Amino acid sequence: DNAQPKKPDWIRVKAPTSREYMETRNIMRENKLVTVCEEAGCPNVGECWSQGHATMMIMGEVCTRACTFCNIATGKPPEALDAFEPGRVAHAVDKLGLNHVVITSVDRDDVEDGGAEHFAQTIRAIRQRSPATTIEILTPDFIRCAPEALEVVVDAKPDVFNHNLETVPGLYPEVRPGARYFHSLRLLQRVKELDPTIFTKSGIMVGLGEDRQSVTQVMEDMRAADIDFLTIGQYLQPTPKHHKVDRFVHPDEFASYERVAYNKGFLMVSATPLTRSSYHAGDDFARLRAA
Ligand code: SF4
Ligand code: SF4
Repeated sequence: DNAQPKKPDWIRVKAPTSREYMETRNIMRENKLVTVCEEAGCPNVGECWSQGHATMMIMGEVCTRACTFCNIATGKPPEALDAFEPGRVAHAVDKLGLNHVVITSVDRDDVEDGGAEHFAQTIRAIRQRSPATTIEILTPDFIRCAPEALEVVVDAKPDVFNHNLETVPGLYPEVRPGARYFHSLRLLQRVKELDPTIFTKSGIMVGLGEDRQSVTQVMEDMRAADIDFLTIGQYLQPTPKHHKVDRFVHPDEFASYERVAYNKGFLMVSATPLTRSSYHAGDDFARLRAA
């Protein structure tokens, strides 16, 4: 049975047209950069790109994992890591004049350190060229790597270390095979232990089949791991082959998650149907720093 709930009218996507959108697109193309905005078919691409905000995806376009909600190609990556990529990312960040940049990647379980050194080099290259830009990374879980891999990334001092739990633990086998809920939680807790000046961030999607109580439990677990920022957004099925949408969560339920989350002590929470891990990340961060 392939019946899906009908898209409600609060999930609305505007076609991207602005000049700024085209400019962002051109800079990405010129620098041969892949964005998660396009690869994941993000509904916010028109809005974000017209403000010069984009999430760049490093380490290739093929992922060694196969999460059932994700539209990135999976398999054996055809290429080794590109040593020139950190420089190209830094160049694009400079050209786009970003105040805040989000860098993410595919999972590279085929690389010994999971791409830790590549992440660190990318952070350093951006810092050198754009010292005022705040840097947010959204990383893989480094589950098959030695503990030092994480230290290499933390040593490069990103401003925000984001790693998404994606869903409640009960749905992991189905939604996020290859990952482990408690490993991901522990990863974020270790970041905080290694460098308490780095903000930690995580997020989940709802509408995958979870119930409210397990969402609240995830918030508890995140706070116990000292996670600072939280994002919760509606899961949208990228293609009919992907995990089905179980339900469209009403905006009121999102608002109630946001209240609960602030009560639990998160410093920054975004919970709306169109919230994505990187949505308005820069504005939120600037507000927090000004507070
Ligand atoms: Fe890109 Fe994130 Fe904006 Fe989506 S929300 S368009 S992924 S920056
Ligand atoms: Fe997609 Fe990330 Fe899962 Fe790879 S690890 S399939 S990029 S969500």
